[in-house]
Amino acid sequence: MTATWSNWAGNVVARPRAVVRPASIDKLRRAVREAAARGDTIRAVGAGHSFAPLCQTDGLLLDLSLLSGLERVDPATGEATVLAGTRLHDLGEPLLAAGRALANQGDIDTQAVAGAVATGTHGTGRKHGSFAAMARAIELCTPEGDLVTIDGRDPDRLRAASLSLGLLGVMTRLTLDTVPAYKLRGRTRPLPFDACLDGFLAEETARRTAEFWWLPALDQCVLKTFDDTDAPIDRPETPEYPPGTLERYLKPDAVDWSWRMYPSVRTTPFVEMEYTLPLANGPDAMRELREMMRTRHPDCAWAVEYRTQSGEQSLLSPTQGAESVTISVHQAAELPWDAFFRDAEVIFLASGGRPHWGKLHCLDAAGIARRYPALDAFRAVRRALDPAGAFVNDHLAELGFAE
Ligand SMILES: Cc1cc2nc3c(=O)[nH]c(=O)nc-3n(C[C@H](O)[C@H](O)[C@H](O)COP(=O)(O)OP(=O)(O)OC[C@H]3O[C@@H](n4cnc5c(N)ncnc54)[C@H](O)[C@@H]3O)c2cc1C
Repeated sequence: MTATWSNWAGNVVARPRAVVRPASIDKLRRAVREAAARGDTIRAVGAGHSFAPLCQTDGLLLDLSLLSGLERVDPATGEATVLAGTRLHDLGEPLLAAGRALANQGDIDTQAVAGAVATGTHGTGRKHGSFAAMARAIELCTPEGDLVTIDGRDPDRLRAASLSLGLLGVMTRLTLDTVPAYKLRGRTRPLPFDACLDGFLAEETARRTAEFWWLPALDQCVLKTFDDTDAPIDRPETPEYPPGTLERYLKPDAVDWSWRMYPSVRTTPFVEMEYTLPLANGPDAMRELREMMRTRHPDCAWAVEYRTQSGEQSLLSPTQGAESVTISVHQAAELPWDAFFRDAEVIFLASGGRPHWGKLHCLDAAGIARRYPALDAFRAVRRALDPAGAFVNDHLAELGFAE
């Protein structure tokens, strides 16, 4: 008997032979061992928020939502060990109780910690890294059902495991770097396109973080900045406005704990393509994208998001060690996106871009190999941990990860 599973956006549907929600790590180990012995493809799922078919399998889909919680905060280093299925929104409160917080977060906080780390999920800013960069130790379940811990004692394997797309095994526990708990002051302001783009890097340098959205229907930008503050909490309630409107992005000034400030509410299903580009190529790519959307896809009203990232060391990091910008295009999940995303991708690729692994892209194995010089090193670690390819699904095989 097969089950049906679909991701958050509804664009990926899978019919696994079984969906298992283990209530303990021992039960997870048994499920992995038995599925591998049967020759099933095993994929783990966090919150199913990836747009790419990473979690697709006709074998075993492992849902880690019952393996959740903060286990400990090391008093000496501040490093936090969490169970892999912990949702990001369940981490803020217990970390605050320990006086700690994550140094950065992305647009939402519904993802599982393992899913966020496995895909290199990131917020904005060159001063603080992605979830993959926060990983200090990762406990994995191998196809044999054994637990293996990869940490800083083996930095090469940690560079592989920290952004591994579920290819090295099922993560059961992760230890993340944290920082002392902090509050943020959030500000947004509308700006004309050229003024926003031209002044963006100076603004981003002066702030803890900065990003902007370009709203195609209005040809206007909204710049959003976060600064550290000791001011008292002041958080006006704002509803979720429709995509593409100014009100969705333009918010009253607010102060709150970091983990309450980072996430936005995103309930309208959409699909997304995001590319990471060398920092210097961002402005020209953004100008070209705007021109392309205005001339070829004037009906695409969803905002384009422009962010920065620090250079990161994970073997599969789309930054490949260099400071970068990321540009994301969106479309309502029920509308056609293919032609628009393909046109955007031409611009991103010509600008030296690499795709976000959790989002949509059209690259094949040759395209991935050209852009990832450390791919062979990653594949060697994968082969050593999973020689039979139990964790490689069709999508990842098409990207060259079966080798
Ligand atoms: C509304 C929305 C907003 C988003 N905002 C951002 C953003 O601001 N920044 C950004 O970078 N991305 C963003 N994303 C993309 C999203 O963060 C990533 O795709 C992320 O992986 C989703 O986490 P998840 O828990 O849903 O993982 P899933 O989609 O469930 O899984 C992602 C990958 O992780 C693997 N995985 C999950 N759990 C385990 C485990 N225990 N062991 C091994 N592998 C595992 C899966 O096999 C898969 O390969 C957004 C997506 C949506 C839908």
